[in-house]
Amino acid sequence: MEIEEKVLKLIKSGKNGILQNELWKKAKIDSSKCSRILAKLEKEGKISREKESEKGVKTYLIKYIEKKEEKPRSFKLLLIGDMFSPCTGCALECEPEKCVLLAEWVYGLEKEG
Ligand code: SF4
Repeated sequence: MEIEEKVLKLIKSGKNGILQNELWKKAKIDSSKCSRILAKLEKEGKISREKESEKGVKTYLIKYIEKKEEKPRSFKLLLIGDMFSPCTGCALECEPEKCVLLAEWVYGLEKEG
């Protein structure tokens, strides 16, 4: 297992995060190497670091950032069959009440029903 993965796994295992001054000991690496790995993971958006003080010793509380899965986008409301709304990407001077393209598209919506 690569050391970076090991560090990330240790961070994930702490329910409320893990203190940096415990992390490097548990990972069996020196503190400066731990700092470099954490800086990289933070830059990648995988962890957060908050200043913390434990028994007068300044350290950081490291937390894993859960990635929420994005729901697939639905374009159903913009489509009639496989035709997009004419307003999608339209660069015309817009007067919706006079727009023939929009009127035809709305008419298509009514037909689809
Ligand atoms: S209403 Fe007509 S002019 Fe306005 S954005 Fe839609 S298609 Fe374009």
